[in-house]
Amino acid sequence: MTTLEQDRATEVEAADRPLSALDRCDSCGAQAYVRVMLSGSELLFCAHHAHKHEAKLRPMAEVWHDESHRLGA
Ligand SMILES: [Zn+2]
Repeated sequence: MTTLEQDRATEVEAADRPLSALDRCDSCGAQAYVRVMLSGSELLFCAHHAHKHEAKLRPMAEVWHDESHRLGA
């Protein structure tokens, strides 16, 4: 495994940690249920804004970590 691959694995692992009540939507401040890793930056969205931006952002995102299913639980 190259260093670059290791860095990427670490990044993906961090991106995959569960979202908590402290994670807030970047657009509206509601509790975040989706984390998007995009060009090395982390974006957080509530289910509403994740859905709104999904068509545009998802094809570009390195990680699309979606916990919005927990809303219905
Ligand atoms: Zn929002």
